[in-house]
Amino acid sequence: MAKEGGVLAMYKCPLGEQCFLLATDDLLMVLRKTIVKMYCNRNYEKCIRYQLFLQGRKVPKNLLPNDRECLTIE
Ligand code: SF4
Repeated sequence: MAKEGGVLAMYKCPLGEQCFLLATDDLLMVLRKTIVKMYCNRNYEKCIRYQLFLQGRKVPKNLLPNDRECLTIE
């Protein structure tokens, strides 16, 4: 089991602790859970927020991982 946990940890987004999207209260809980499940915990390389960060570009607060705008975040 420990090995599985280690493997899973490898796929977690390294930006999780500093990601505004996950920290804000303005993101609907159901959307947050979906993002964590679909991107942060397994496909973070596909997250546009992660990609912009890697490129050293500004990451808009309301940018969703799929390059859409979150309407509940101003
Ligand atoms: S939303 Fe994107 S940048 Fe933020 S923690 Fe999840 S995968 Fe990483």
